[in-house]
Amino acid sequence: MDDTPVYQDLTEDNLARFNAYDDHETVRRFELTDGIVAFIAVHNTNLGPGLGGCRMRPYGDEDEAIRDVLRLSRGMTYKNAVAGLPLGGGKAVIIGNHRTQKTTELMEAMGRAVETLGGSYVTAEDSGSGEEDMVAIARYTDHVTGLPPMKNTDTNYGELGGNPSPVTALGCYNGIKEAIRFCYEGRRDLADMHVAVQGVGAVGLGLCELLQQDGVKLTITDVSQEGLDRAKEVLDDVTIVAPNEIYSVDADIFSPCAMGGSLNDETIKELKVDIVAGAANNQLLLEHHDQALTDRKIIYVPDYVINSGGVICVGYEYFRKTDYNPMDFDFTRDAMLAHVEKIGLTVFDILQLAKDQNLNTGEAADNLAEKRFLEGAPLHGENSTEEAQASSELTHDRTLVQ
Ligand code: NAD
Repeated sequence: MDDTPVYQDLTEDNLARFNAYDDHETVRRFELTDGIVAFIAVHNTNLGPGLGGCRMRPYGDEDEAIRDVLRLSRGMTYKNAVAGLPLGGGKAVIIGNHRTQKTTELMEAMGRAVETLGGSYVTAEDSGSGEEDMVAIARYTDHVTGLPPMKNTDTNYGELGGNPSPVTALGCYNGIKEAIRFCYEGRRDLADMHVAVQGVGAVGLGLCELLQQDGVKLTITDVSQEGLDRAKEVLDDVTIVAPNEIYSVDADIFSPCAMGGSLNDETIKELKVDIVAGAANNQLLLEHHDQALTDRKIIYVPDYVINSGGVICVGYEYFRKTDYNPMDFDFTRDAMLAHVEKIGLTVFDILQLAKDQNLNTGEAADNLAEKRFLEGAPLHGENSTEEAQASSELTHDRTLVQ
């Protein structure tokens, strides 16, 4: 019996009314188990298969889900391009409550849905889905990553797979170092710099640990007392403020590592920092907030650039699993971590590009991504300096929180 979920491709006529529609290659609607509807969107595969997570949320209606999958899959094209990965952009959304409606059968049906795309879409975890769901999906398709760590007898390979958060934290740390070097005329020493971190969850706490090794002064906040207690245990010396006070901390850097939309008309006014650089996705509430930060002479490190450690991590896991290797990567953990260190170099390039061309940093990042996925340009071009490369390499022996 063919268990493939019933599906239908949405046409340009169906999609033209959505602002987020950007000539996506495929947008497919599925009926999974128990009448639950899902969409998979593949935005662009010029650089490789569209990799992006599978989100499960109780969207109000199908239009809301389509809007999200169009926006998020497009975002993944930009993120993967700037991360220097041979990957395009894709995303999946399932309409439903992940706490009450998610079943193994549903995720297995999602695996069959992913398989219908024939490898043009690769799925992974996102909000509402986790490692166990990827295991269920993997029973029906190879085009899935973010699985439990692969144990290997060959120690040279190390482990790939597993929780990407420590790797995201490392990428943020590298990005912050390069933003500091850019902003403070070549400064490499982080001692006594002051970073205000919003959210000390999986990524935020890992980032704090890395910064503290360099003598950075930390002020943190979190809405979870448990999170703060854990941070107090792990960090030697830290100042804690209430969630609404974090924006006005007089520091060098504000690092949003909690939720999206934290930079808005109100909070941007409060900032007393030179740089905004953190892991959270979609930090700017609205597009014009990039300009609002520029107006306040605050350097904004675009979120999708600095938080790409996680996708690099799951990308390498996928490459190794499938032997997909158009860029001749080594499929080792060391090679993956070296790739993550280059996030610093990319951050520096983007800040320089924005300065040279009088652009907001978000525009500079988008331009760089488009050059890559539309024109096939190499990532590090004329703006890279040997100094930046050397600086990026310096971080290689940094202890990784696990
Ligand atoms: P997490 O859930 O482990 O941590 C988030 C923390 O923020 C939690 O401790 C939570 O209590 C806190 N928080 C929530 N609302 C807050 C508020 N208003 N003020 C202060 N603290 C608040 O999540 P994470 O995996 O650390 O991810 C953090 C951010 O980074 C998210 O936006 C996520 O989408 C993004 N991101 C994560 C990864 C990854 O590898 N985990 C990769 C890319 C991007």
